[in-house]
Amino acid sequence: MNTIHTIDLMLMGATGVVAAYFIPSSAGHIIVDCGPSSTLAALKTGVTNLGYNIRDVKHLLLTHIHLDHAGAAGTLAKELGLQVYVHSNGAPHLQRPERLLESATRIYGAMMDSLWGAFEAVPEQQIVVLEGSETLQVGALEIQAVYTPGHAIHHLAYAIGHDVFCGDVGGVRLQGSSHVVAPTPPPDIDFAAWQQSLEKLRALEPTCLYPTHFGAHNDVTLHLTQLKQNLQHLKTLSQTIIAAGGGKTEIAEAIKQAAAKTISSKDLEQKYALSTPYEIAANGLVRYWQKQKN
Ligand SMILES: [Zn+2]
Repeated sequence: MNTIHTIDLMLMGATGVVAAYFIPSSAGHIIVDCGPSSTLAALKTGVTNLGYNIRDVKHLLLTHIHLDHAGAAGTLAKELGLQVYVHSNGAPHLQRPERLLESATRIYGAMMDSLWGAFEAVPEQQIVVLEGSETLQVGALEIQAVYTPGHAIHHLAYAIGHDVFCGDVGGVRLQGSSHVVAPTPPPDIDFAAWQQSLEKLRALEPTCLYPTHFGAHNDVTLHLTQLKQNLQHLKTLSQTIIAAGGGKTEIAEAIKQAAAKTISSKDLEQKYALSTPYEIAANGLVRYWQKQKN
């Protein structure tokens, strides 16, 4: 059994939306996805409350570089001198975040600062570039990095035994709900790659999945089946709306209505919307279909 702790980063004060995972190791502790710098204080408090010292964290495994997962990576790298593990397609953006920030600003606009805070560059010598076929050894732990595109072209999952950290390619499923949603922000959504990545996750025979949004889920088959269906649903829904002359607004509205029908409470529904705002999900889907035309 691996010791894995979930730290609630309390994004915008909301519980149970963005998680960081903490894994103690004699060779320097490990964090999987540190979250944005707007929630860095919650991360540090979380580590302290578990009885560990943040200074002993030596490994930061990033599933991908979106701001809700990796925003604080540069700040932590500078403060703690830790190693940052990332896919080769994401590494250049950690070193030089300008383009990533431009793209995020297009998506989030005036909300950028309050949502995410600063994004500092990660010094090159602290970046460990992965392709997603490596096995890392940290103390007694063997960590398998698995290339899992679909949500982002630089997405990795990490497996420690049958515990699988699936980032966002493993969907969004908040605690207390069996509703699994595929988060589809621009610019990299790729349905075919995503479905293949789900097969890769299945092949790891997980006994527990740890998506960033949120927490451990051990009914793995149900989870992955629902996610597969949700991907197909979003693909068909967006295609149908676009074919009928609709666009972002109509897609966002349809996603919102579907969520309202499936999710049991208003509170949970708001948290799902915080993890992937409907308009942003719709933007990603429109972008996908535009790319298919070109
Ligand atoms: Zn995310």
